[in-house]
Amino acid sequence: MHPVTRRAALTLAGAGALTALVPGTASAARPSADRFGDPFGLGVASGDPGPDGVVLWTRLAPEPGDPDGGMPPRQVDVGWEVADDERFTRVVQNGTALADPRDAHSVHVELTGLAPGREYFYRFRAGGHISPVARTRTAPAAGAAVSALTIGVASCANFGSGYFNAYRGLAADEPELVLHLGDYFYENEGSGVRDPGGSEPKDLDGYRIRHAHQRTDPDLQAAHAVAPWVVVWDDHELVNDWAGGDGEVSASRRKAAFRAYWEHMPLRRRSIPRGTELQLYRRIGWGSLATFHMLDTRQYRTSGGSITGDRQEDWLIDGFRDSRAGWDVLGQQVFFAPRSGGGKSQSWDDHPESRERVMQGWVDAGVRNAVVLTGDEHVHHANDLPLDPDDPTGDIVGTELVTTSVTSGGDGEDDSGDGGDENPHIRFRADRRGYLLATFTPAELRADFRTVDTVKSEDSGVSTAGSFAVADREPGLQEI
Ligand code: FE
Ligand code: CA
Repeated sequence: MHPVTRRAALTLAGAGALTALVPGTASAARPSADRFGDPFGLGVASGDPGPDGVVLWTRLAPEPGDPDGGMPPRQVDVGWEVADDERFTRVVQNGTALADPRDAHSVHVELTGLAPGREYFYRFRAGGHISPVARTRTAPAAGAAVSALTIGVASCANFGSGYFNAYRGLAADEPELVLHLGDYFYENEGSGVRDPGGSEPKDLDGYRIRHAHQRTDPDLQAAHAVAPWVVVWDDHELVNDWAGGDGEVSASRRKAAFRAYWEHMPLRRRSIPRGTELQLYRRIGWGSLATFHMLDTRQYRTSGGSITGDRQEDWLIDGFRDSRAGWDVLGQQVFFAPRSGGGKSQSWDDHPESRERVMQGWVDAGVRNAVVLTGDEHVHHANDLPLDPDDPTGDIVGTELVTTSVTSGGDGEDDSGDGGDENPHIRFRADRRGYLLATFTPAELRADFRTVDTVKSEDSGVSTAGSFAVADREPGLQEI
């Protein structure tokens, strides 16, 4: 169709206006670029906030089950707006992005020029349709005083294993920032509660379908709409237990999974995959209050050797040295604390020298407060981090908060407790599905381990299984 018509179409006000004006053509097997169904069924998202902007994301996909999302094989204009208020009476920026079929019609709008430490609202338009409205925010200016920050932390959302009641609870708690620590979706089918969204993905089409299926979930969409997310992956975004150079994953599968991950996450351009690599480790600063060091413990690990790879480790330890933050927070995948017996494999216990260098890095840099946030384990944990793993009640130099899974593993049991005599530094564990809320202030860190009653139905209460605090400059968890 003529491009003038398309531009004219974008000026039409209101959702659905275009479809009403263009008569159907019986011969067309697929809609033209100017005429497609509501393309916003995957919702919208934002991510990686900085002091002057944030990334806005959406993907046009009127047919989420199709590899191309049901979009025509050409570029489509996507209008975006950012406003001070939810009703868009004070629009502060707007523009147009191109959704390209080579990116599965995803858009990643990297905003600049916004004010630091502020809440904003955003929405998109395409093909006469308008997206849901979502909230985001910019980070406070570097070094700025911040009185408090509440984050939501989640991991391990197997669609087939249950309903995302944890994401609905997280959205209702309205954190200002969400950290997702991996297993955003699963390549496997889960435990049969819900349709996992097709067979196991192994190529680009397969991964696109799996991501799109995940994104159709309304509770996940609500969690994305409440705050910007900072995401890192674990293993299931590619395949169970893959690990850097040691995995037996083909280059083509790895490329496909990485490509689809980039397409579906609110990441900055620096994370566009190059061949079989995707740059994911990065820092997010939150004024003088906190620095989030987001790690990739999958892509560079070697069996029995480093879990981060040398380059990432140097970057991390340099970051501790440069940090002036009240709280230096690692956002990462697998269980960090030493542990005798039980628990998942492929953790930092398999890479003790890496762990020792990170913890010594805290001590040498004199970080004010060291915190590790962890996913993967599928069980909530609160751990004191001893400098010497052989002396777990000795010198405590940090805190680990492990969030349980959103659904993986099913409902679990009312089996909360601690690490017992063998693991006195494991202060708390709770085997239910849920998420973690963590509130940082200059004086303390507070952690609330949130759990859902069930993942087997959409109806579920949310409660708090345990709460802990850590005082500024006094490592060691205190039960509240
Ligand atoms: Fe998991
Ligand atoms: Ca995992």
